[in-house]
Amino acid sequence: MKVHNFSAGPSILPDFTVEKTAEAIKNFAGTSLSLMEVSHRSKEFVAVMDEAISLFKELLSIPEGYSVLFLGGGASTQFCMIPYNLLGKKAAYLNTGAWANKALKEAKLFGEVVEVASSKDTVYNYIPKGYKIPSDVDYFHITTNNTIYGTEIKEDLDVNVPLVADMSSDIFSRPVDVSKYALIYGGAQKNLAPAGVTFVIVKDEILGKVDRQIPTMLNYQTHIDGESMFNTPPVVPVFAALQTLQWIKEQGGVSAMQIRNEDKAAVLYDEIDSNPMFKGTVINKEDRSLMNICFVMNDEYKELEKDFYEFATAKGMSGIKGHRSVGGFRASTYNALPKSSVQALVDCMKEFKNIHVK
Ligand code: PLP
Repeated sequence: MKVHNFSAGPSILPDFTVEKTAEAIKNFAGTSLSLMEVSHRSKEFVAVMDEAISLFKELLSIPEGYSVLFLGGGASTQFCMIPYNLLGKKAAYLNTGAWANKALKEAKLFGEVVEVASSKDTVYNYIPKGYKIPSDVDYFHITTNNTIYGTEIKEDLDVNVPLVADMSSDIFSRPVDVSKYALIYGGAQKNLAPAGVTFVIVKDEILGKVDRQIPTMLNYQTHIDGESMFNTPPVVPVFAALQTLQWIKEQGGVSAMQIRNEDKAAVLYDEIDSNPMFKGTVINKEDRSLMNICFVMNDEYKELEKDFYEFATAKGMSGIKGHRSVGGFRASTYNALPKSSVQALVDCMKEFKNIHVK
């Protein structure tokens, strides 16, 4: 049976990435050594790191004056590294979900934090708008895609302070105007690579402005100077990231990804909106994520939730359980998920309706 991988992360990667990485784990770049066994200082791996950074910049059209880093520690380490490096006195955060909230809490260890708006009271089912950002903050932090709740900020915001964004779950899903951001970061384990590598895009000129001492490993400048090789980088995930970047380029780049993702999301949201058994959890349609599509059973069919889960699982749908804080279902439709998988889920929903709705 074909299994359709809707996992929220780690999640589906292109077959190309999986195959090329598997090959390199056996024999890396003709060295007859495994990718897991070679020095990160070998010329073969240095070439991988260099190409990954340069393709990352090319695909997102990153302007001059920005550095791209591949680090360890996950996006969660960035929650503290960002304020460590950037928060002098005060920062502003938009609280759109559990991850945004974690980032905000961490920043409070370093200075004053203004929560400009929050959708916490309604289980984060919309993206707040119309908030004011104080002009005297060192930066404004947003989470562009809220993986757990299925909301997404799909435009690059215009703000008059340095903008910092967690793009863990929507990087490379659409073109981004990087020039509008001071820093973009994320764990790579959704659209890019297996878990273990964190990407950071940082505008060089925003660094070096805080007075505090920064531990070496938590200082962005260390990793800029060391070209992401200050310490041993996560070699296998970086190699896999390079394969995914090559695959994205081959598919037509991030604009092509956006078209694919909009197309897939439209198919599933249309079914959620038209099938009487289901409803979307996000209240404003414009806030709906293209990456994580969250839905529940309509009230009159609530008791069939477990049945639908088992029905869909038996038909090969994997990873569709919603996060416990939202319930219901979450279908993650990252770049590598083919439209045929979305269609298979939609077919399941239709079939289930035909059984239960007279
Ligand atoms: N931010 C977002 C939006 C996420 O979805 C996640 C993980 O799912 C994280 C941060 C945490 O990432 P990590 O596990 O790499 O620390």
